[in-house]
Amino acid sequence: MPVTVRFAPSPTGLIHIGNARTALYNWLFAKKQGGEFILRFDDTDRQRSKAEYAEAIAADLEWLGIMPDRVEHQSKRFASYDAAVEALKARGLLYPCYETADELERKRKLRLARKLPPVYGRDALKLSETERGALEAEGRRPHWRFLLPNFADDPFETRRTEVHWYDVVRGPQTVDLASMSDPVLVREDGTYLYTLPSVVDDIEMGVSHVIRGDDHVTNTGAQIALFKALDAEPPEFGHHNLLTTVSGEGLSKRSGALSLSSLRERGYEPMAIASLAVLIGSSDAVAAVPGMDALIEAFEPAKASKSAAKFDPAELTTLNRALVHELSHEAVADRLDAMGVSREQSAAFWSAVRRNCDFVADAAGWWAIIAEGPDKTGDQGFSDEDRAFARAAFDHLPEGPVTPDTWKAWTDAVKTVSGRKGRALFMPLRIALTGRAWGPEIADLLPLIGREGIAARRP
Ligand code: GLU
Repeated sequence: MPVTVRFAPSPTGLIHIGNARTALYNWLFAKKQGGEFILRFDDTDRQRSKAEYAEAIAADLEWLGIMPDRVEHQSKRFASYDAAVEALKARGLLYPCYETADELERKRKLRLARKLPPVYGRDALKLSETERGALEAEGRRPHWRFLLPNFADDPFETRRTEVHWYDVVRGPQTVDLASMSDPVLVREDGTYLYTLPSVVDDIEMGVSHVIRGDDHVTNTGAQIALFKALDAEPPEFGHHNLLTTVSGEGLSKRSGALSLSSLRERGYEPMAIASLAVLIGSSDAVAAVPGMDALIEAFEPAKASKSAAKFDPAELTTLNRALVHELSHEAVADRLDAMGVSREQSAAFWSAVRRNCDFVADAAGWWAIIAEGPDKTGDQGFSDEDRAFARAAFDHLPEGPVTPDTWKAWTDAVKTVSGRKGRALFMPLRIALTGRAWGPEIADLLPLIGREGIAARRP
């Protein structure tokens, strides 16, 4: 069977690194097996779903390197869901309930007090037609529950009913259908909860593998029953561990700081995010993977651990630094262009500075130093003695074109006349030239600064 996966975000906010993990698990899984990836917007909630979030999600995925083979919107597929509802009703598998949230809560407490599992007791199944009519006459509208197949003949005599599946992430899984309430599929205002549309879509779109967060494990038990109730073969399932913040809270669409858009604005490379989103909480060491192909190669869903993994933005910076240090000029040429780096010098400039950049944007600071003059923001003053030394040293800059060999010739000459060596020799010159006590090899910077630029920096 061909592999088809889907990533199904609700467009009610921006996606965060935890959603990126789900998207990437699906993407890598599909790409590893030559399969298809569907981006499916769970937008049945028309009030909360926004077209601009859907667009932002698609753009975030593209930036990350995920190019969906298909894009679907649940909001355009109500006819299919309505048909499934009719089929379930015709089989007596979808029944109307009238309890309010308060009534349900009271019933739950009563069951707990009677040492019964706090699941819905199917009271609405006992209602006669007349009783239902009376409730509707009061103005109540029903919500609809799916009758789980967890009994032999009498729905009020539930019995342990195990659903098993081999989870592509977690291995063998078992859920007992008697331990859960009949899920509500349709709300009293007629809107759909996610459970049924998701199953209908998975059937009609030929989804072979449902890969999602492990907060859905219990749902999977009910959804497998729903696939069967709709005469469909359930797909395979995989549930990966979730990411939390450093303090252990779940990520939510509201934790804006960890949204992909904000991480992208802060200048992180997509592969830094993809590497961390996939490798964190797995048996692989977290490392910067330079490209998607290598990540596809390394990806193995069963490597995910069972417990939640903490996402630490500091780790992201470490990965970003490692990636930036190795980025080719080709990969950054457009960005350097946009910073105003001269085209002629761009390649030499990048090779000089990249190992001193955590972010590509850090190159702008080095370019300003080259094009405009030493960094004045730092506190890199000279002692009077060092200033005098550096001043005198500028007189020994070798004649002729400034090349990568100039620095050695220059400092050799200065060493001979001053007797200084090592740090005492190099540091005052570095500070005079760049205003910073650290940075790229001066030998590489000198040709970029040029003779005039060097002369202008004489302290
Ligand atoms: N919209 C659901 C979620 O984001 C989709 C779950 C699923 O993949 O089935 O949790």
